[in-house]
Amino acid sequence: MALILSGQGASRGIGIGRARVLESGGIEIPEYTLDPDHVGAEIDRYRAAVSAARVELTVVAERLGAQVASEVRDFIGTHLMMLEDDALVEAPVEFIRARACNAEWGLKQARDQLFAAFEQMQDDYFRARRDDVDQVVKRIQAALANRSVRNLFADEDALDDTVIVADDIEPAELSGLAERGLAAFIIETGGQLSHSSILARSLGVPCVVGVRGARQMVHEGQLLIVDGDRGFALIDPDGERLTRYRERQYELKRRATQLLRLAGAASLTGDGQAIRLWANAEQPKDLDLALKHGAAGIGLFRTEFLYLNRQTPPEEEEQYLAYVEAVKRMDAHPLTLRTLDIGADKQLPLGQDHDEPNPALGLRGIRLSLKFPELFKTQVRAILRAAVYGPVNMLLPMLGGPGDALQARALIREVEEELSAAGIRYQDHVPVGGMIEVPAAAIAAPRMVEILDFVSIGTNDLIQYTLAIDRGNQAVSRWYQPLHPSVLRLISAVIDTSTALGKPVSLCGEMAGDTRFTALLLALGLCDFSLHPRGILELKETLSRLQRKPLLALKRRILDAGLPEDVAEILRQAR
Ligand code: PEP
Ligand code: MG
Repeated sequence: MALILSGQGASRGIGIGRARVLESGGIEIPEYTLDPDHVGAEIDRYRAAVSAARVELTVVAERLGAQVASEVRDFIGTHLMMLEDDALVEAPVEFIRARACNAEWGLKQARDQLFAAFEQMQDDYFRARRDDVDQVVKRIQAALANRSVRNLFADEDALDDTVIVADDIEPAELSGLAERGLAAFIIETGGQLSHSSILARSLGVPCVVGVRGARQMVHEGQLLIVDGDRGFALIDPDGERLTRYRERQYELKRRATQLLRLAGAASLTGDGQAIRLWANAEQPKDLDLALKHGAAGIGLFRTEFLYLNRQTPPEEEEQYLAYVEAVKRMDAHPLTLRTLDIGADKQLPLGQDHDEPNPALGLRGIRLSLKFPELFKTQVRAILRAAVYGPVNMLLPMLGGPGDALQARALIREVEEELSAAGIRYQDHVPVGGMIEVPAAAIAAPRMVEILDFVSIGTNDLIQYTLAIDRGNQAVSRWYQPLHPSVLRLISAVIDTSTALGKPVSLCGEMAGDTRFTALLLALGLCDFSLHPRGILELKETLSRLQRKPLLALKRRILDAGLPEDVAEILRQAR
């Protein structure tokens, strides 16, 4: 009898493969050889990481209260001294220089050398110092990896038929795993709406999240079946189960191929209303998938992929080239580029305070752009220049209200003036839209919609912030209710206001691609859905089976319903 691990299905499909169990939040140490020209920069990177570790520890020391035991102070003092010691400051630099290796690897070599010396010592005191060295080394490694960015796998690692079992995987890590043939993910934490889950869906890799204790239950190399539809995994399945699941896998592939026939068909409800289906994209390869699946264009391109896994933000030219490439790839279909939306669970080393006590309510999305206007303007310049090559829209994330929208628009105007003054070619009048994903922005819909050229409803965050439920926290996931009356009223108000003012409105949260909500969204008057390209054809098929007019007649009852179950019941009766 196979052991069952249950959780929540976060990315659909069946994955079968061997387990690769990752250590808890541990930082895997990459090893690579550097071009001789880059050795100097790598040494600087190492020194900067040591300084960052020093600053971090000094802050910890300064914050220690009077009641803290003196041993704790001594312990931190020792670590600070180690951060000044040549054995950890200069020895790794020598390794980097002599072997042209990356900083992490140089540090590991220096650590191993120190450990070998400690092994020779009989004295318990010195042996205990070995643990201190280890902790200091980890601190520097963390600083090198921007604290939390693990470099999970060396590039050449084959990941075919591998099931990754981890406590958590950050978007930055996941995006590095694209196209590497992974079979599935089993993740101990997180919920269906965490960015990692969204990315797993975008990679088309089956994923189950919220599987507590998975790493204790699964051993490296064990055979696993991951059922992303039903939210569980089987350890060491018997032959019969394995056959059954392989058949299901085959069946799913067959259905996907069948659905592909719908790619060229118009997207219409059963009673003939045209519905535009846009694609969400996380990375450039999603653009091809979008076109293949017949998307009207890209309704949301999360540009964070350009900023992840690196020390400094991309320069204007790099962004410009990436956007031009995307515009050309879209072959005259509109491309909606969302400006940088980091913070919360997608942290980057851009000078923001990593110790924000409540990052989901902190410096994320447009707030970060407004705080670092040069960062924002660089991206805007690249977008406006790339827009010369095809239809582009610009989408602003996490607007908190009219003030944010006005300030962002003023900065965009500034960029236009600067480009004009410098005689640089750019596209005039690029439509600027806003994400409505903060309740305050939804409540202020009439004013927001006036300021913007179009709006896109981000239900992932709108639900999170309306209901005060962390979208990535499995412990509260049952309170994450898309059918909550307050959420529905906000969505409905934004759709109504935009329609009345003649401004395009789409919905680009995960709700758009979840066919359990299609009838509901039609009832609220939505005509533009933006979803992961892999879901477009299924949604098209679902739409063709629904009658829009009778659904619209249910809108009032739906909005007046008190409980999510009541809304579900109203929609069930209408079927
Ligand atoms: C949303 O919040 O619904 C959204 C689409 O943005 P993201 O998931 O990138 O936060
Ligand atoms: Mg969002």
